[in-house]
Amino acid sequence: MLTIYQKIQKIESLQTEADNETKAFKNRYKIDCLEFCSKCCRYEDINATTLEFLPLAWHFYKTGQLEEIHNKISNYNEPQCIFSILEKGKWGCSVYPSRGLICRLFGFASVENKYGKPVFAVCHSLKVAKPNEISTICEKIEKGGKTPVISDFYRKLAMIDLKLGEELLPINQAIKSACEIIFMHTAYR
Ligand code: SF4
Repeated sequence: MLTIYQKIQKIESLQTEADNETKAFKNRYKIDCLEFCSKCCRYEDINATTLEFLPLAWHFYKTGQLEEIHNKISNYNEPQCIFSILEKGKWGCSVYPSRGLICRLFGFASVENKYGKPVFAVCHSLKVAKPNEISTICEKIEKGGKTPVISDFYRKLAMIDLKLGEELLPINQAIKSACEIIFMHTAYR
């Protein structure tokens, strides 16, 4: 059985893999976020797993912020992610290096359709701003073009810890739950 530290290392490796694959996707299809868009971080229905936020909670522990952040989330009642930055002219995440797996994949990866084939899960902003480029990318992927597939990453995540890596929760609840797990593992150190 993996220790909490081994799990964190494995999640971080998977996050790096997601970063590398989405970066390759952007280069391959010559597409990227619109400057200072960040609309995806303002969605009110982002779901994530507790497991993908363990590295972030561990970072809070190491920097002495765990209790403070946990209290903040407990008193936060907005539907958007607590770490989203809503100011114009700024990128959207205040915890970018330790953001979740879904945050890394969304916009530059595919979902599986009912036949198990990848379909580009493009964000609304790019779909509206660059319709021709997006339809070309969709066609290329349909013909077998390379793409990260979100469910592949979540299958790998669940192999690290089935219970914490499978259940999808509203994003703030997932972050809070990750903070509680790190708190329990460090309370008596
Ligand atoms: S953790 Fe960061 S990247 Fe993920 S939804 Fe929240 S603000 Fe956006």
